[in-house]
Amino acid sequence: MKDFFDVAVIGAGMAGILAARDLSQKGHSVVLLEGRDRVGGRTFTTEAFGTELELGGTYVHWTHPTIWHELQRHGIPIFAPLNAEKAYWLADDDVHWGTMNDYYEAVNPLMSQFVHDARSQFPMPFNVSAVASDVDQQSLEDRIISLNLSAYERDVLEGAMSGLVHSYREQGVAQLLQGVSGTFGDYNGFFETASFWHIEGGTKRLGNAIMSESAAMLRLQTPIQSISDNGSLVTVTTRAGEVIHSRFVISAMPINTLGDITIEPELPAPAQSMINSKNPVMASKIYVRVKGTIEPFNAFAPAGKSPINAARAESRYEGDTLIMCICSDAAAIDANDHMAVQDALRKFVPDIEVIDTASHDWGTDEFSQGGWGWYRPGKLTGAAPLMRQPHGRIFFAGSDIASLGAGFIEGAMQTGVVAARQVASALAIEE
Ligand SMILES: Cc1cc2nc3c(=O)[nH]c(=O)nc-3n(C[C@H](O)[C@H](O)[C@H](O)COP(=O)(O)OP(=O)(O)OC[C@H]3O[C@@H](n4cnc5c(N)ncnc54)[C@H](O)[C@@H]3O)c2cc1C
Repeated sequence: MKDFFDVAVIGAGMAGILAARDLSQKGHSVVLLEGRDRVGGRTFTTEAFGTELELGGTYVHWTHPTIWHELQRHGIPIFAPLNAEKAYWLADDDVHWGTMNDYYEAVNPLMSQFVHDARSQFPMPFNVSAVASDVDQQSLEDRIISLNLSAYERDVLEGAMSGLVHSYREQGVAQLLQGVSGTFGDYNGFFETASFWHIEGGTKRLGNAIMSESAAMLRLQTPIQSISDNGSLVTVTTRAGEVIHSRFVISAMPINTLGDITIEPELPAPAQSMINSKNPVMASKIYVRVKGTIEPFNAFAPAGKSPINAARAESRYEGDTLIMCICSDAAAIDANDHMAVQDALRKFVPDIEVIDTASHDWGTDEFSQGGWGWYRPGKLTGAAPLMRQPHGRIFFAGSDIASLGAGFIEGAMQTGVVAARQVASALAIEE
């Protein structure tokens, strides 16, 4: 098998497949090395209950420029979930309910306080070098405490962001402020961009469309063990001991799997420390099929106070309703235990009847070892910009180190496009 390429791209998530496509379309020889038996990484459209569901990254938006460009390029439409007028929110040990407007009345003043400085801290959300580093040192929890809220108010606020949170203490506030600044300081706008619009045919359809334009050689089930740059050539060694040489490498693996890879020469200390401290998000998503066409609802509970922290009736299927649930801590519930899931949902909707569930455990998956990316305090402005710099002939991509759109498919795609452009320039200089 061919063992020398212009570029080896490692990791066929959204970052890697875009980087590989762009470089191969420029005429460079590219190998795309992927540990799993499929492309897509933390996006995963799969069949469950006889229909297709997204067990990983799902929601996209037209304000996310790279993904929107790709969707338009391939003529792929998006659609909205069921319209839910009813809201449940767990706060101060009670489940409260009302219309979505009642819920917004409770949460909006608190959230406005929480993100009041989003635009002033991130005047140009795409430029993190313009950000004061002290705000990046703050955790979500630091900021929550600084607001001196009542127990009820704190739970309402924490519940509103729980669909993004595993740990208020370990996750920095800066990433949230940056996202909200990107929607002109409006948290509800940010929430819509993050959690509403689906891709028709799923992320798999988009991934396949991108791959159909790629001339890269795709090698599935080829986990990488080490990357070594000798200054004129990069050697990639697979777990099976196969050696592949390339002029440049783009590593598009999740930050939580990079600790398993030997990289030579060593990375600068702050970058290595970011890899060692890991992305803290160990959350999961469960799709639940419940009996009948129940009234559409949204539910919110603070991370740590319920095994299900965000839930939404998303669609109808064969006379039943499909509920999307986010569990801030994947370990807090067994997604296959229908009774446990039913009990957790009945906290909000008393008579709900679970028929089936589908989930993927991203935390124990060896090729992700975590959920969506979230910067620990200090990392957004500290180590991440450093990781986006070339390390000799090795370039890094992936949503976990993205500048804008970190933690989202958008961030993955942006970093893939940028890394491909940088490597193409480096190749042009050498040719
Ligand atoms: C439950 C969940 C819900 C989410 N919801 C949303 C959402 O609604 N909207 C949104 O925009 N984002 C969402 N995200 C985040 C989004 O899915 C990710 O940010 C994005 O898909 C990451 O893409 P990536 O290419 O950076 O990394 P990945 O998709 O993780 O791709 C990295 C690739 O590297 C491979 N790999 C790892 N180790 C090795 C190795 N040693 N050798 C070879 N290959 C290796 C992996 O198998 C993987 O294919 C969600 C994520 C999760 C987990």
